[in-house]
Amino acid sequence: MKRFLCLLLIGLILCSGSGCKRSEAYDPEKAYHTARSFSELGDTGADAGLELARAKEMLFRIEHGELTGRHAQETLDARTEAYQKLRTDAAIAYVRYCRDVTNEANKRAYDTLSLQISELSCILVDAALLLTKDPALKDRYDPETIEALKAEDALSDLSVLPLIERERALVGAYEALSDRLFLERGGRTWTGDEILSDPTLSPEAFTDLYEAYLDLFNREAGAICLDLIRVRREIGETLGYGSYAEYRYACLDRDYSPDDAALLSEHVRETLVPVFIKLQRDFYGAAGALYGAVFEQEPTMKRMEDAVTAVLPMLSEPWEYMISHGMYDLGNDFKRMPGSFTTYFATYGAPFLFSAWTGDFETIPTVIHEFGHYASFYLNGGDTDAAGSLDLAEIDAQGLELLTVLRYDTIYGELSEAAETAELFYALYALIDGCVEDAFQQFAYAQPEPTLEALNAEYGRLCAQFGLDTLGTEARSWTRIPHTFQSPFYYISYAASMTAALELYLMGKRDPEAARDAYRTVLLRRNGLPFRKMTEYAGLGDPFDPDRLAKTAHELLRIRQDGGTDDLNGTKDR
Ligand SMILES: [Zn+2]
Repeated sequence: MKRFLCLLLIGLILCSGSGCKRSEAYDPEKAYHTARSFSELGDTGADAGLELARAKEMLFRIEHGELTGRHAQETLDARTEAYQKLRTDAAIAYVRYCRDVTNEANKRAYDTLSLQISELSCILVDAALLLTKDPALKDRYDPETIEALKAEDALSDLSVLPLIERERALVGAYEALSDRLFLERGGRTWTGDEILSDPTLSPEAFTDLYEAYLDLFNREAGAICLDLIRVRREIGETLGYGSYAEYRYACLDRDYSPDDAALLSEHVRETLVPVFIKLQRDFYGAAGALYGAVFEQEPTMKRMEDAVTAVLPMLSEPWEYMISHGMYDLGNDFKRMPGSFTTYFATYGAPFLFSAWTGDFETIPTVIHEFGHYASFYLNGGDTDAAGSLDLAEIDAQGLELLTVLRYDTIYGELSEAAETAELFYALYALIDGCVEDAFQQFAYAQPEPTLEALNAEYGRLCAQFGLDTLGTEARSWTRIPHTFQSPFYYISYAASMTAALELYLMGKRDPEAARDAYRTVLLRRNGLPFRKMTEYAGLGDPFDPDRLAKTAHELLRIRQDGGTDDLNGTKDR
């Protein structure tokens, strides 16, 4: 029942190394997008080893006063350009790895490159910080750029690279777990897939085997997580952060603290969990017809295109680009990394969408979600403001998901009401689960001596407290969420941004034009506002305001009680 949410790969975008500012000048009309298709893309030709050697030499010469002024800046700009190429290569290598996680060469290529990029990033930031003190470059570095560089410098350091290498190895071990975990039972070994797909198993035998498999997975993944917690806490401590949660919140460019998130979770529990429980009943009523349907990829994608471009016509260009250039992968074989993500090949001006087309209902909102990220990358060109804040990026995605609900008749025809019920249910699920996973991780990283038993118990307690246990979500299932391993403290962004996305949905019910404008304002952001200020600016309010949450809950209940979809055109507001 657990729905896996996407992982947006943003990572550190080193813009400040070249001294660039917010790109008011960025013009989507003139933006470069490679004419090549994904299958024709090779490496950019940048050599990571060579670039590292060059960057080290440059830093040494700047430190010793041998390289100064304009010449130093030009050298740094050239190294930064090469860094962007390597990031592009790493993003491509990651896609290759995710298509087949059993391929050791792909995995090694990605691991090696990502570590080299971390090192290169540290060196370039150090060099840029030294140049900020060069009087000849005073025009280049204004106070805002210097602050941004210092903030970036605080997030990493060459001294933590061995820890980052260890962290990546543990994440890789988790990623390999799904198809390398063998349960020994009844004189043979079983993988999870074999248990799920064996038609000869009786219901009792299946339950017995699958329960044992879940136990084994929880033990193995749990042990990896305990190691990760130790390594990650050391990273946070070495970099001088009060807690690992604070460090991660800084990495994810948040304008709220772990304590603010805990408060948000408390308000969500009080106001929205009761709505979720009510919707759950509606969802079970709607699920039969919806989950019995099979959605063929090609015609459904065409209908999805019609629906998202009806939400916002400017989305037709990124959609057409994605399809005509093969900048997506919707395959569905067992060797793939589970889950969905969107990434960006900066050097080629091309975003890439990775998900799986299973043909069931959930595929559709998942792909629309990813396409919200895709459109943002395409239209903003990987601009730091647009890509930097995870919370804003998740409004791009979840906002589009919920605004498209208002066009569900285009996609689902007579199933559109059932699909709307299901989507609203999943929206609230994402919001609540965002709170649960963050509270769980805050607990896990704060334990002096965490144990698997304590983690399982706390997760079970939180699920019960937030109404997720009614879905059959239980204590062991936290180990199935890849974000907890790959990108800790990511999940609260689903909650924070979903409150704004629900505002968009409710606004769209009343006034579709106003909702479209608000969404476009967030999507094309260029003003550098942080998340909470940006949502206020777009007319969506502060996602952390408890009164606003209560109002959202109230309005959702009212719509559901009114029967929901009859005021779609915004002509009635009962
Ligand atoms: Zn997302």
